[in-house]
Amino acid sequence: MSQGAGAPTREDALALDAVDPLGGFRERFTLPKDVLYLDGNSLGALPAHTPERLRRMVEEEWGNGLIRSWNEAGWYDLPRGLGERLAPLVGAASGQVVVCDSTSVNLFKVLTAAMRLRPGRSTLISEVGSFPTDLYMTEGLVPARRRLIGRDGDSLADLLDDDTAVVLLSHVDYRTGRLQDMAAVTEQVHAAGALMVWDLCHSVGALPIELDACGADFAVGCGYKYLNGGPGAPAFLYAAARHHDAARQPLTGWFGHAEPFAMSPDYAPATGIGRFLTGTPPLLSFAGLDAALDVWADVDLERIRAKSLSLTSFFLRLTDALGLPTVTPRTPAERGSQISLRHEGAYAVVQALIARGVIGDFRAPDVMRFGFTPLYVSHADVFDAAEALREVLASGEWRDPRFAQRGAVT
Ligand SMILES: *Cc1c(COP(=O)(O)O)cnc(C)c1O
Repeated sequence: MSQGAGAPTREDALALDAVDPLGGFRERFTLPKDVLYLDGNSLGALPAHTPERLRRMVEEEWGNGLIRSWNEAGWYDLPRGLGERLAPLVGAASGQVVVCDSTSVNLFKVLTAAMRLRPGRSTLISEVGSFPTDLYMTEGLVPARRRLIGRDGDSLADLLDDDTAVVLLSHVDYRTGRLQDMAAVTEQVHAAGALMVWDLCHSVGALPIELDACGADFAVGCGYKYLNGGPGAPAFLYAAARHHDAARQPLTGWFGHAEPFAMSPDYAPATGIGRFLTGTPPLLSFAGLDAALDVWADVDLERIRAKSLSLTSFFLRLTDALGLPTVTPRTPAERGSQISLRHEGAYAVVQALIARGVIGDFRAPDVMRFGFTPLYVSHADVFDAAEALREVLASGEWRDPRFAQRGAVT
């Protein structure tokens, strides 16, 4: 065994896969044969039946149904309908989730609505290490005095005060994979009289989420990562029912109107979660998420979590044997479904792995990120990926200048 004493073997991996209750889901995805895909946290894989769903929407609903499909094919109901199907994945009772727009746009809507629910307070707290679009969107908010954990104070407790209106945090950090204690943090924020907005981009589909039980106020999340909705899939938005009547989001388009087809010159918000909609949904990309949610209807999230932790723990044991430092918490309960390793040549090492068909990604400045999607990644895949990593490092092949060239998207 090349990894040295104590490191698990490929036989160990196969033994774990043999008793994997989620093993059967792999065949519900179409993946290239020569690829080990550890980037489903950035762009999820293609569900095998998605092309047929897309074909149906294009050829039958659009081609034949034409404008009649708004009613007859249920197009008009898709933002609310997909929200209902997604709700169990985030622990939300009916009527609190809609699918619409992008995560960035939905952040703007819920953050503005939340700020307006706390008149007299002007501070928004977030975290300096947040995914950049979350931080950039907070810069566009008016009014907001923004303070960042890790820059203006070390911790949330340092920054919370009686001017805090809203706290925005990622449930799982995109770079380190650290998982926040949603219940405890939400309680801490509420104790200061502020509202809590969760970004679920790196946790939805990776672990069970309990928005209602934790008392969360608002949340947003991605359709194209662990959910497998396809490139550019629409995002989703959660607003707790107790806020619906008072909440005023800023992008007051006709799809959020109480009576869009009354064509009134004045805006009046829909009752319920519908007031968070804005304009015409991009229906072709809704079809991809619609198909992806068929798979999720059959999934037990406790099993997802158990397998996710088994995969990440297995990878960590293998990479520990390589002496690679990790920025991901070692305590399983404190991490999402990824392992992030540091290496001075992280970018080139990731490129060398991709050349071998092992797809992970790089996050500045020196992090190699490997996402483990329990629906279609096996322990044997994890073993083979770690073995490829060992070879890339041992051979020094990552030092080849061609692996240093950067594309527009890293
Ligand atoms: C992926 C991701 C986004 C993506 O936002 P888009 O509007 O879809 O580009 C936002 N926030 C976080 C935390 C993410 O991980």
